[in-house]
Amino acid sequence: MLTPVTRVVVIGAGHNGLVAAVHLAAGGLSPLVLEQAPRPGGATRSAARTLPGFVHDDHAAFVPMAVASPAMRELRLEDDGLRWVTPSMVMAHPFEDGTAIALHRDVGATAASLGGRAGSGWERAMGQLLPHATTLVETILAPLPPVAGPLRLGGALRRDGLDWARRMLGSIEALGLEIFAGDRRATAWLSGSAQHSGLPPSTAGSGAFGLVLQVLGHSHGWPVPVGGMGSLVDALLARGAREGSRVRCDARVERIITRGGRLTGVRLVSGEEIAADAVISTLSAGPLVGMLEPGALPARLERRLRSWRYGTGAFKLDYALSGPVPWTAAEPREAAVVHVAGALGALEAAAQDGTHGEVPERPALVVGQQSLVDPSRAPAGHHTLYVYAHVPSRYAMGDEDVAARIEAQLERFAPGFAAAVLGRSLRAPHQTEVENPSMVGGDLGGGTMELDQQLVFRPAPELVRYRTPLKGLYVAGASIHPGGAVHGMSGRGAARALLHDRRLRPWRTRAG
Ligand SMILES: Cc1cc2nc3c(=O)[nH]c(=O)nc-3n(C[C@H](O)[C@H](O)[C@H](O)COP(=O)(O)OP(=O)(O)OC[C@H]3O[C@@H](n4cnc5c(N)ncnc54)[C@H](O)[C@@H]3O)c2cc1C
Repeated sequence: MLTPVTRVVVIGAGHNGLVAAVHLAAGGLSPLVLEQAPRPGGATRSAARTLPGFVHDDHAAFVPMAVASPAMRELRLEDDGLRWVTPSMVMAHPFEDGTAIALHRDVGATAASLGGRAGSGWERAMGQLLPHATTLVETILAPLPPVAGPLRLGGALRRDGLDWARRMLGSIEALGLEIFAGDRRATAWLSGSAQHSGLPPSTAGSGAFGLVLQVLGHSHGWPVPVGGMGSLVDALLARGAREGSRVRCDARVERIITRGGRLTGVRLVSGEEIAADAVISTLSAGPLVGMLEPGALPARLERRLRSWRYGTGAFKLDYALSGPVPWTAAEPREAAVVHVAGALGALEAAAQDGTHGEVPERPALVVGQQSLVDPSRAPAGHHTLYVYAHVPSRYAMGDEDVAARIEAQLERFAPGFAAAVLGRSLRAPHQTEVENPSMVGGDLGGGTMELDQQLVFRPAPELVRYRTPLKGLYVAGASIHPGGAVHGMSGRGAARALLHDRRLRPWRTRAG
């Protein structure tokens, strides 16, 4: 017998919530997305945070997964106005001696930038991996267990496949030193990409993050939406509205209500109750368990979610600039992304400090120069700058002192930077959590992604396929496999699981 689902609530209008809503609506339901913030978008928003005419990405900025992920690709958001820019110089990594190594879309140009044996090592590695980039990414993103992907990869890569699996399970530092024959400069360049995960370069599991991001740099680029990340949200909202989903902002969910062990709806902090037969939560593990009645989940699972570990927080600075950043090295003047840390030892020290509760003396920075490739982000001749560093979620220093360390680091690699600053916006991890309670401690990945405990079967074996033991409750978001980043996989997965359970058709766009 079919169970009719008339009232479906999605908690959170980040990209996963919006992707879920599109799928639910396309499957014949009319979901209501409840969002606590005044605007939808979550960690994929952009705003004029500094001066009029300057558009800044609040959190996510470079989204290769969004173009590689099947969940996003199949939505064809380009039909809803989304346009991408894909920079040809993907990333530059400057060193303190005024030189830099660049990741280009083109493998040959990248090998030339690496030089000598390191360049040959990279060409050899990419010769093996690049033809299988799409399968590699789809395997990592696929619902567990990913059966077809590993078989296809194993068949294609043969013995090399096992070798790559070994390297990717290890640290990015070990992986780099192996493929670059001990070259520490080249290894620093590669390791900079693992910073996005918040894992130190010497940590097991960082190999996969750093390598996959660099492979994506060649295969798909690190694209940015024209007009800011908000354009991605606008396209998702437009698609959702056409399919029949609704979004309600300023609606913070306090409780997922269960009566007699049955899910019956949600209660907002205002006290309003909204009846629902099914709920998809896109919040990270801590806030999710905080919304449930004690005993709603089996005790072991509840304990697991309560003990979920969050990692370092992102300390974010956005600048309105009178001109481009005066980098000492040539390559960063062209690159959309710059990894500022310098030598491998400096990168490791900064990451270890952040992980062990210290604000690094010389923070490692992820820097975005979106306006270099998307002029719509700033008035003519002017530029935006996007900077974040991983710091502990709580620290004793004042926020301005942390900002001063970040700015000193920028000056080290771009002397005279301060003179170009017209306006600045600062967001410390505690402020991020206030704006979006799902990002506990400003953690950008919904909980640490260490190989030992939190990466595999994320966040718990019972939840990896988006269902929960509480009938009618489904989960998505950065704490759920395959984790953080803008790829929409768990949003789609949760919606598909719900539709499947109610024997509704998973994908039928009214939009065509
Ligand atoms: C500084 C920073 C930089 C990043 N850079 C990148 C990048 O370059 N590329 C990339 O791919 N990824 C990046 N990420 C990660 C990426 O942004 C996130 O993993 C992803 O956007 C998470 O999407 P989501 O929909 O799961 O969650 P979110 O976007 O966090 O959405 C959750 C939503 O739920 C809402 N909410 C919270 N509590 C409640 C409640 N009680 N009731 C109702 N609503 C609630 C929130 O306001 C939010 O809108 C970055 C993250 C940060 C912080």
